[in-house]
Amino acid sequence: METILVVEDEEPVRELVSVYLRREGFRVETAEDGEKALAMVRSFVPDLILLDLMLPRLDGWTVCREIRKTLTVPIIMLTAKGEESDRILGLELGADDYITKPFSPREMVARVKAVLRRLKYAGGPNDVLHFPGLSIDRNACRVEAGGKEIQLTPKEFDLLWFLASHPQRVYSREQILEQVWGYECPVDSRTVDAHIKKLREKLKSPGSKNCIVTVWGKGYRFEVTE
Ligand code: CA
Repeated sequence: METILVVEDEEPVRELVSVYLRREGFRVETAEDGEKALAMVRSFVPDLILLDLMLPRLDGWTVCREIRKTLTVPIIMLTAKGEESDRILGLELGADDYITKPFSPREMVARVKAVLRRLKYAGGPNDVLHFPGLSIDRNACRVEAGGKEIQLTPKEFDLLWFLASHPQRVYSREQILEQVWGYECPVDSRTVDAHIKKLREKLKSPGSKNCIVTVWGKGYRFEVTE
């Protein structure tokens, strides 16, 4: 069952949206302000987020920007006035779509399904990532580089998956530790360097370029090269 996080401060709207989504078979979690939304996203990853822009505590733009630092989960913005500048900013910050209020619940459900369908059709980000000369299948824990399957340790796999599911973004060693090893784990940041080194060796295959780039003074980035 897919879980939708509904972030909306107006209770009647939140309720209406939740009722319609549940009727369509989605599991629904709700947050009534931006801070709560961010706290919830730290404890579970929803399949999609419906995000109102005008929210108490933290507005929708800030929430979207924060979420995009670590997650590729699809976000549909709920914009109050349908102002073009709001929508454009939302899309620039990484929202996948927007719905203008007032909207019909049926239209909202159709948009949610369309965004989820688009993701599945693209093969990710939830199961398989494809790049030139490299494919990573999370369900099967399989990685193919240059047409050959390569063997990774579970941590190497998690690390590759994390970086590859956020291509072109730079992550510091601390952020990588937090995301891949978890907050509680007392490993030091050189562990990240060691794992990256092994990953690079394993991913190296004739004709394929190095996918994990060192960004001096900042950290690492997964780069897609044709
Ligand atoms: Ca609002």
